[in-house]
Amino acid sequence: MQYVMLTGGAGYIGSHTALALLRAGYQVISFDNYSNSSTAALQRVEQLAGTDLIRISGDIRDEAALSAVFRQYQVSAVVHFAGLKAVGESVAMPLSYYDNNVAGTVTLCRVMREFNVKKLVFSSSATVYGDAKTVPIAETAPRSATNPYGQSKLMIEHILQDLVNAEPDWGITLLRYFNPVGADSSGQIGEDPNGIPNNLMPFISQVAVGKRDKLSIFGNDYPTPDGTGVRDYIHVVDLAAGHLKALQYLETNQGIEAINLGTGTGYSVLDMVKAFSRVNNVEVPYQIAPRRPGDIASCYAMPDKARKLLGWQAEKTLDDMVRDSWRWQSQNPDGYTNS
Ligand code: NAD
Ligand code: UDP
Repeated sequence: MQYVMLTGGAGYIGSHTALALLRAGYQVISFDNYSNSSTAALQRVEQLAGTDLIRISGDIRDEAALSAVFRQYQVSAVVHFAGLKAVGESVAMPLSYYDNNVAGTVTLCRVMREFNVKKLVFSSSATVYGDAKTVPIAETAPRSATNPYGQSKLMIEHILQDLVNAEPDWGITLLRYFNPVGADSSGQIGEDPNGIPNNLMPFISQVAVGKRDKLSIFGNDYPTPDGTGVRDYIHVVDLAAGHLKALQYLETNQGIEAINLGTGTGYSVLDMVKAFSRVNNVEVPYQIAPRRPGDIASCYAMPDKARKLLGWQAEKTLDDMVRDSWRWQSQNPDGYTNS
């Protein structure tokens, strides 16, 4: 039996991808140290799929633990979500970020090579485009980083490129996610941030559910239609589907490709707040606050390469995104903690 291993499989995007893979008939291993997640997400994935996955508690920096998995199971491909992802924290704790993200990826690749598993889908990010000069952003746009988190993604992209240059029989897809939001339509799994959310959608949801007083909108003087920042929000279920397409692509292709996963449409912060209120019939009090340092005005994808190469495009609408985010938040006001 062949398995797809998900590092970070219990996390927000990993759990939705695990569900999509199980539903498509794949055998799935989740390898996660639960530093930002819990097994509850995986239990719910199993309930929703009506089938089990293999849950392994381990750290990608632990070569012996990884080797044990590859020894026990025949792994055909790895989808590599595991890593730390909070920009502010990365500025305060750069060594943790380089250790978990960069050193962890190097260890993973070393073990994969040892067991001759050479198909890898990597969670990259639109953050590698830095402050892009033009939108929509194509994969060929220049890359840069302004914080250790972004730098770690950029470094990994370079490392994986060098690996393919040296060993062309690897097949690697760098999926550059734009802004993942939403949740499975069951409301059973979703994003469960620790502490005060950094990202817009979980913050809006927590205001709507009464856990926070009001949203601060970081700046209304950007050169955008309504002055607030514009991003390419993508439903996490669409994102998960993109990983299946990437795995299928790697069945017959070697080499390395960077591919944007975005919708190609930008929405402003105010667009998101208004859609959330309208669709869910809830109040989202907000105030205008100063710009957040490091933020850019506008960022959205040129999504054509994903369509041409993978046959993938986002299907979900803005209304789906805000409805599904709210269903998860309202059904699980404290995330997975009480399950
Ligand atoms: P998440 O924190 O929910 O999931 C990451 C998972 O990795 C968690 O379950 C965590 O416990 C696990 N993990 C962390 N370090 C580990 C280690 N050393 N060993 C084993 N497991 C470890 O985050 P997410 O939103 O699901 O993001 C998944 C990936 O996508 C990350 O690499 C992230 O950088 C990337 N990404 C996320 C976004 C986003 O906005 N959510 C955007 C672009 C890229
Ligand atoms: N944003 C905001 N208030 C918040 C969180 C985010 O106004 O509490 C804005 C932010 O300035 C940006 C957009 O929402 O314009 C998306 O921010 P997020 O942190 O979700 O994603 P990223 O900055 O990584 O694109």
